[in-house]
Amino acid sequence: MRKLVAGNWKMNGTRAALDDLRAIAAAHPSPQVDLLICPPATLLAAASSATEGTPLYIGGQDCHAAPSGAHTGDISAPMLADCGATAVILGHSERRENHHETNGLVRDKALAAFDAGLTAIICIGETLAQREAGDTLDVIRDQLDGSLPDTATAANSVIAYEPVWAIGTGKVASLDQIGEVHDFIRENITARFGDAASGLRLLYGGSVKPGNAAEIFGVSNVDGALVGGASLKEVDFSPIIKALEGTI
Ligand code: PEP
Repeated sequence: MRKLVAGNWKMNGTRAALDDLRAIAAAHPSPQVDLLICPPATLLAAASSATEGTPLYIGGQDCHAAPSGAHTGDISAPMLADCGATAVILGHSERRENHHETNGLVRDKALAAFDAGLTAIICIGETLAQREAGDTLDVIRDQLDGSLPDTATAANSVIAYEPVWAIGTGKVASLDQIGEVHDFIRENITARFGDAASGLRLLYGGSVKPGNAAEIFGVSNVDGALVGGASLKEVDFSPIIKALEGTI
């Protein structure tokens, strides 16, 4: 399995940010891990051009479940692929919360991503209230059962565990908390998909920074990270990439 560092730029970045993208690509001409940046949709085509010929892949942050049609403001999976994207983040907690996305909708979007040849990065994670109620593993099980299609494989899917309370807050889950959930996810997908699940990458996300990346990457069944704030600038993103390379 090749490990993966993915950056989620969220609603940040205009064309000037392409310089940051070029800087990230230039700093890692032959990385030992996969590298992906998911810029806002407005930058996708330009980002693909800016990184052409480099090992930095470009991805979307969401897609519609339909390939085309009367869906004002939405973007389809084939459109992302047409812009040069190779992956798409789906079911991020900000989409689940702000746009009321359900597990079923996330699964349908993942199927659309597969049809377009994109890797679906399916996000799951509990809220603080759910953790405090002792419901974390039940929530994770429900999200996996509902969001991850039966046709998921190590080639077309990545799972990102992102505790909602750790995203953009500076609060990081403890290594024990991360390990417990990642081991649980691996057991769950192994029970469902058999040995093939051993190659499916599990990312941790939630305030990953240069200062905590190495210890997080030392946790069992953590195969990389989905990084928000610290993916915007090369100076923050590069040490995270190097920390993951240090585990190989
Ligand atoms: C994210 O947006 O997926 C995320 C993990 O953000 P941050 O790293 O800023 O917490």
